[in-house]
Amino acid sequence: MSNPLEKFGSMVFGDRAMRERLPKETYKALQRTIQEGKSLDASIAGVVANAMKDWAIEKGVTHFTHWFQPLTGVTAEKHDSFISPAPDGGIIMEFSGKDLVRGEPDASSFPSGGLRATFEARGYTAWDPTSYAFIKEGILCIPTAFYSYGGEALDKKTPLLRSMECINEQATRILHLLGETDVRRVNTTIGPEQEYFLVDKELYQKRRDLVFCGRTLFGAKPPKGQELEDHYFGAIRPRVLAFMKELNEELWKLGILAKTEHNEVAPAQHELAPIFSTTNVATDHNQLTMEMMKKVAERHGLACLLHEKPFAGVNGSGKHNNWSMSTDTGENLLEPGDDPSQNTRFLLILAAVIAAVDEYQDLLRVSVASIGNDHRLGANEAPPAIVSIFLGDELTTVLGAIEAGQTLDPTVQQFMESGVKILPNVARDNTDRNRTSPFAFTGNKFEFRMLGSSFSISESNIVLNTIVAEQLSRFANHLEAKGCTKENIFGLIRDTIAAHKRILFNGNNYADEWVKEAEKRKLLNLQTTVDALPYFIKEKNIALFTKHGIFTEEEIHSRYEILVEGYVKAMNIEALTMLDIARSQILPAVSAYAGKLAESASKQQALCAELPCLLEKELVKKISGLASQLYERIGALDKAVLDAKDHAGDALTSAKYHRDVVNAAMTGLRDVSDELEPLVAREDWPLPNYGDLLFSV
Ligand code: ADP
Ligand code: MG
Repeated sequence: MSNPLEKFGSMVFGDRAMRERLPKETYKALQRTIQEGKSLDASIAGVVANAMKDWAIEKGVTHFTHWFQPLTGVTAEKHDSFISPAPDGGIIMEFSGKDLVRGEPDASSFPSGGLRATFEARGYTAWDPTSYAFIKEGILCIPTAFYSYGGEALDKKTPLLRSMECINEQATRILHLLGETDVRRVNTTIGPEQEYFLVDKELYQKRRDLVFCGRTLFGAKPPKGQELEDHYFGAIRPRVLAFMKELNEELWKLGILAKTEHNEVAPAQHELAPIFSTTNVATDHNQLTMEMMKKVAERHGLACLLHEKPFAGVNGSGKHNNWSMSTDTGENLLEPGDDPSQNTRFLLILAAVIAAVDEYQDLLRVSVASIGNDHRLGANEAPPAIVSIFLGDELTTVLGAIEAGQTLDPTVQQFMESGVKILPNVARDNTDRNRTSPFAFTGNKFEFRMLGSSFSISESNIVLNTIVAEQLSRFANHLEAKGCTKENIFGLIRDTIAAHKRILFNGNNYADEWVKEAEKRKLLNLQTTVDALPYFIKEKNIALFTKHGIFTEEEIHSRYEILVEGYVKAMNIEALTMLDIARSQILPAVSAYAGKLAESASKQQALCAELPCLLEKELVKKISGLASQLYERIGALDKAVLDAKDHAGDALTSAKYHRDVVNAAMTGLRDVSDELEPLVAREDWPLPNYGDLLFSV
């Protein structure tokens, strides 16, 4: 791309295209919807659809799709062409307001967790006008929400949009109480940093574990791993650079502000960070980014791995969800301001976040629970499964002073004045950044770091928006009842800090002492997905979501079922893949290699009967012993998988069985295989090894 500015957003029916192509009134009405969340007048859909179609046809597009995010975790699309029969027997290119606004994909094959009986397989997609339509690989994609005949959400976008409305309502309420009556809307903003691995495509295809499960189920440690830490921010190799360049260009055309890219800690690992945007747009963009990463990698003979833990013993990949709130008047509510009133606002919002994260640790943990992330959280490379907040020393001192009640005496008047100086420093000073915290304040935003790399960022943001909205609504109720005076505001902040300070932790989250300390503080430590998921359906959490209209009780239960069943299915696929590879590749290879050694020994002895052939004999003995063990462990895993049907009563029982029994059998099998791998000649081992995979690109 010669000039990135020219191509930026060229494949997006965004603000510029709309301004150029829509009648002024239509444009304004649509803007009101986009900017202020006002509902859209149905009559304008036809006008927008027509302009959109003309724009797309000029770019050679003939098909459109409603693009949506079902509960599978990936996006879905079904292509329809613009072509319609004309009365004269020819064809015309047609795309009506109805085509734009509503679609009816056959929903029966998407997960619904029992919400949609199979006889009522209908699902509907509805245009989300707040996220721009775009052209991807020659198809006009309309971002949509996906819901059932009965109106239940079947996707990740609908509740996200609901949560954005919810936090908007409560934050605006607080700001109005604080006298900022010019604010009409508060949006949450997200910048998701995305980690990924790139490996050679040919090698990738030779590993069925990578192909089927996204991670290696076997693999001995390579002689060189990430010990030297020479990869982080290291020079980017030419093949990767070419990939990144093309990826950036593709993303820019889609209006995605891909900005920084660098090597990560592990070999073959990289990161991409976009410039932040509104939550639902950032969510769409992150899905598109992951999709384009995979596609562009293919074009470069590479495979992009988004799994949380593709390689044992090597850092896995996560996603950092940078989160803040901003007003339509252009203010970041997590920016400590330059004058005391702004600092009051900041401290109040901060207190709300602290209370929210403490009270709903469980929900945040649930939002990052997955079989892949279970390998990562707490493995000294990502935060532990314990949720806590890092604020940094300065802010902690300020809150400590407020908690001690110092704001109310005259000397503290002074403190607040110096606080005016202290707070802006917080924003500038990044030096004491804590990289081990799951939820870190980074100057003017929070960074939630527990997400897995393959996740949709939707769940975490639904939770964040809702729990903060809940606290803000409690604050607003309190201030409305007691009066919004400075004393009452600081009283509220003080009480909140006192009640929730156990969630604050500035130290090393990777340390064992923290696990003990957290236990003393009675913080939750939900180590696995199976431990975490039941919290989703706790009474207090159902009450929260239903109160704010984010999920109905049925929607929560259906999502819970999908998550638990998904865990069991994924485990089962991994176990079966292991069995398959062990039986059809590793066992035969090991046996053949032992035979080769024996043959070599007997050939040597045929030449001269006295030759000791120690190497061959010892090695054959060792390999043969391990091969027998391997054989037994295959049997054990096989049995564990077969026995699963005896534990299939309810989904959670089955999930627990898989986590404990199947998983242990998998580990047992892997251990033996990984012990065998270094004993077998490289060319006789049937799978590309870790060294090949990690250092070949
Ligand atoms: P790092 O965490 O690597 O030091 P940065 O501080 O540059 O990186 O920012 C990381 C991400 O945070 C980027 O995607 C950036 O766009 C995003 N970000 C910055 N400000 C905000 C904000 N107000 N709201 C949400 N995300 C933000
Ligand atoms: Mg970061």
